[in-house]
Amino acid sequence: MTEAKGQGMYDLIIIGGGPAGLTAAIYALRARVKTLVIEKEIVGGQIALSDVIENYPGFPSISGQELMDKFEAHAKGFGMEIKFAAVENIGLDGNIKVVKTSEGELRAKAVIVATGAKPRMLGVPGEKEFLGKGVSYCATCDGPFFKGQTIAVVGGGDTAVKEAIYLAKLAKEVNLVHRRDQLRAEKILHEKTFETPNIRIHWSHILKEVKGDKTGVNGVVLEDLKTREKKTLEVQGVFMFVGINPTTDFVDVEKDKKGFIKTNQRMETSVPGILAAGDCRITPLPQVSTAVGDGAIAAFVAQSHIE
Ligand code: NAP
Repeated sequence: MTEAKGQGMYDLIIIGGGPAGLTAAIYALRARVKTLVIEKEIVGGQIALSDVIENYPGFPSISGQELMDKFEAHAKGFGMEIKFAAVENIGLDGNIKVVKTSEGELRAKAVIVATGAKPRMLGVPGEKEFLGKGVSYCATCDGPFFKGQTIAVVGGGDTAVKEAIYLAKLAKEVNLVHRRDQLRAEKILHEKTFETPNIRIHWSHILKEVKGDKTGVNGVVLEDLKTREKKTLEVQGVFMFVGINPTTDFVDVEKDKKGFIKTNQRMETSVPGILAAGDCRITPLPQVSTAVGDGAIAAFVAQSHIE
């Protein structure tokens, strides 16, 4: 690999230290590419907040944090350099990518965007007002605050159902509110949900409003989409799991309407030398296992841009 010259100059900058970014780092470092990983928050990404992962091959059951600790240790074993900063934008100076961060400017011949996605807000009255006072988007972070209490979980996808099962171990009752009469989540999770006695499912209902007072959340208003009847549930907490939004505002490449980055099979974006991997790109299956594949391909393809 050609030697990158100058301070703040790298062959490859990987933005994001989740499964895709850490895998890209492992592959790039093994190819002796001068690499920097930039991470804004915590190494491991959103999946580190998952209490259990049961579909990552080789690990029948492992916590998100434990799995990501292994990824991080693996990458550090090859000498991963990591910088904690927020990326503000990526500019171009000829073929060189200029990565502007909260901690200064860095340059690279290629960039891999592996910034993942964040939980989407539902957008109902009371949601913002009671954020951190009963409204949450992270079961492992906030679940223990609701020990023995009654809570609501909104959504019917993998995240909502998995987290409802986890929260049912802590809370007295979990009210799962789903807008259809069938769950979107994997079938194996349906069975677990139905077998959990303290999960009560409100089929074909939407959450209209979060209610509370200065002490925090004390209820939610639900609407039955079939009868249009409204009811109020007394709950002390509400967890929203209604999908994800990509973290891609800072990069000017082609995206879909929701902001997910368009790539080809080689993880190349519309800008030569900027690649994307993992949940921030358009993918039919955002999972750890697919992010790992994306990261490996992106690091391999990045080398041809660097050369
Ligand atoms: P998701 O699969 O997009 O599911 C979002 C859920 O929220 C859906 O059930 C959807 O209802 C509901 N929803 C969306 N907007 C809503 C609204 N305005 N009002 C009411 N309900 C609304 O999102 P996710 O569960 O966060 O998962 C994201 C991706 O990560 C998925 O591809 C998922 O497979 C993956 N993931 C996988 C695992 C795993 O362990 N295998 C764990 C977590 C996440 P509808 O069903 O009616 O659309």
